[in-house]
Amino acid sequence: MQNPPELIDSHAHLDFPEFIDSIPATLDRARDSGVRTIITIGIDLPTSRIAADLAQRYDSIYATAGIHPHDAFIADGPALKELELIARGDRVVGIGEIGLDYFRNQKPRIIQQECLRQQLALACRIDKPAVFHIREAWEDFFGIIPEFVSSLPPSVMHCFSGDWEIARKCLDLGLYLSIPGVVTFPKADALQEVASRAPLDRLLVETDAPYLAPVPHRGKDNEPAFAAHTARKIAELRGIPLSELAEATTRNTRRVFRIKDAG
Ligand SMILES: [Zn+2]
Ligand SMILES: [Zn+2]
Repeated sequence: MQNPPELIDSHAHLDFPEFIDSIPATLDRARDSGVRTIITIGIDLPTSRIAADLAQRYDSIYATAGIHPHDAFIADGPALKELELIARGDRVVGIGEIGLDYFRNQKPRIIQQECLRQQLALACRIDKPAVFHIREAWEDFFGIIPEFVSSLPPSVMHCFSGDWEIARKCLDLGLYLSIPGVVTFPKADALQEVASRAPLDRLLVETDAPYLAPVPHRGKDNEPAFAAHTARKIAELRGIPLSELAEATTRNTRRVFRIKDAG
């Protein structure tokens, strides 16, 4: 059998109990389906620490550090210092996931906004890209981002969930769009439109594992190996070979997170 083309899962949560005790097996299954690099994401200080630690231990893992909008708080000096210390790690490639989530609304909007601003300032200060989680909060996001856009490195909209009009605005801001397994769902018309119309040099592929497993694993636990299903679907929507889609998204992910070619 031909080797599957190389992919990067730009967003997974390997600190979750589904993975943390079986990282080598998870990485083996990922590699078998072509996923040779995984970016594992922090959602608060403890998970950011674990993510950074996993990235130190495994060559195929990189990390991000950040406070998710569900866990948003106005960080005081020591918390911000600690986050910055983790985020400055050499295998920590971004600040995230950070953002606004008015769908779940687990924290007051004003707190979410302030926490986002604090972390955007951090991303600018240490010159690392942000990984955004934005749900039903586009207007406020597009209101806040111009304060930072001139010094923020090109960044990533993770698990993109908007329509083409919102995608257009994100692209105009220089953002990359990371497409989740949702694109394989039969009724995901808006996301399928985005995945087929966005410029190929701005697309990434992600799982958000253990959430959002793509077809044919929908409803079960997701894992990095399944990024291959998402990539295949996007290639099909665009009418290009999987190898071309894989090569482009892998190159894009390396560019935005400044990950060197494994060689
Ligand atoms: Zn998210
Ligand atoms: Zn996530």
